[in-house]
Amino acid sequence: MQKWRIGQVTVTKIVELEVTGGSRFILPQATYEEILPIAWLQPHFADERGRLKMSIHALVVETPERRIIVDTCLGNDKQDRRIPRWNDLHGPFLADLAAAGYPRESIDTVLCTHLHVDHVGWNTMLVDRRWVPTFPWARYLMGRVEFEYWRSQRDHDHHLPIFADSVAPVFDAGLVDLVETDHRVSDEISLVPTLGHTPGHFSVRIASRGEEALITGDFIHHPCQMAHPEWSSTADDDPQRAERTRRDVFSRLAGTQVLLIGTHFVAPTAGRVVRDGDAFRLA
Ligand SMILES: [Zn+2]
Repeated sequence: MQKWRIGQVTVTKIVELEVTGGSRFILPQATYEEILPIAWLQPHFADERGRLKMSIHALVVETPERRIIVDTCLGNDKQDRRIPRWNDLHGPFLADLAAAGYPRESIDTVLCTHLHVDHVGWNTMLVDRRWVPTFPWARYLMGRVEFEYWRSQRDHDHHLPIFADSVAPVFDAGLVDLVETDHRVSDEISLVPTLGHTPGHFSVRIASRGEEALITGDFIHHPCQMAHPEWSSTADDDPQRAERTRRDVFSRLAGTQVLLIGTHFVAPTAGRVVRDGDAFRLA
């Protein structure tokens, strides 16, 4: 299990699913021929054939006062997902979370960087055939713009399963706080708008005792997009805006000690941004 310390804050990675290859549907420009020449991607982020490695994981952020889970993966028992293997999972995520020292009842804050399928799944769990909040003592912080966007989509299409099984039940239980994309969560934790992937997407900034980190969310899916910020993912709602966000964030972080923690990066998961020609790489 990977763990990082940023001043008085610790970040712990809880993996739900890792895959090698099969990611062409999300990053169509990342062909083997394009990936192989980017030498620094191997061996961690791509294999010797140029296939991308990707991860779905949650990050537990523990501050002196708070216990926060950032993004809640796919969840167990969910149905009607577009990707077949994301349906009807029965993984040990909650046991792994507890084994890491974080039983679900101990989480006081859930942060969803955006409301896509792989970031809201464990918001709820199936009990007696009903979806109930997985983290009963937590406030669930969701972007106001993001929430309203998906709620209006749902109003046009009553069969949006993700909103129905993973967002509405926690909202109806009164556990959701709708926040702006620059909301301050605590002394050490604040949100940073990183728009383009979705209309209300945010990243999570950690700052403590002069040290700093940024949890990406999905403004970047894979480190290859540091070498090619212009490669937007098929899931980006506004590709031009998403590219601008990547260039802005990487330019701002390049050469600094800020730790970039990737929401879909396999281990080592985190690193510093450095310039590489007219693009960037993770170091
Ligand atoms: Zn994602």
